[in-house]
Amino acid sequence: MLKGNSKDILPRMADPRKFAQQGISIEGLIAVAELPRLASALADDAAEVMAELEFSVAEEGRKVLRGRAKVQVQVVCQRCLDSMPLDLQVELNLAVVWDEDQAVTLPKYLDPWIHGEGPADLYSTIEEELLLDLPMVSYHEDECVARERFQSGEIVESPEPVDNPFQMLKQLKGTPK
Ligand SMILES: [Zn+2]
Repeated sequence: MLKGNSKDILPRMADPRKFAQQGISIEGLIAVAELPRLASALADDAAEVMAELEFSVAEEGRKVLRGRAKVQVQVVCQRCLDSMPLDLQVELNLAVVWDEDQAVTLPKYLDPWIHGEGPADLYSTIEEELLLDLPMVSYHEDECVARERFQSGEIVESPEPVDNPFQMLKQLKGTPK
């Protein structure tokens, strides 16, 4: 059973146990602006996450959610402080459990999704997975700082990238010549 198509907005709330029993699959988009913890780590919140979710009952009656979510976001390069594209892509292999005790009984290929009775917030579940895929810092692959310096007419004395953005800011502002 497939509900919706790729142009639809993914519903935020779903009862994962009920959906698993009914074998429901859903797919759709989530605006990054709806994911505040992720958005706060990005250069902007304009992107949309594409998510495909399959709920089913697996071995030993476990209610599982399998699926994937992907999005291309804009993050701040920590070398030149300009924005740069970054692909995030996660696989979900979640088993709905009532508590920590039940969580530790899961096989290794399933991650626990601790949830009580009733509907769960799918957005925050997907957001959590995307946050795990987000690197602590991001850099352009090319030598963005060296190029910036060249464009601003300064002589490049040290070709080594500057790792500390604050240090770099100081250098950019510099002292009056
Ligand atoms: Zn850069």
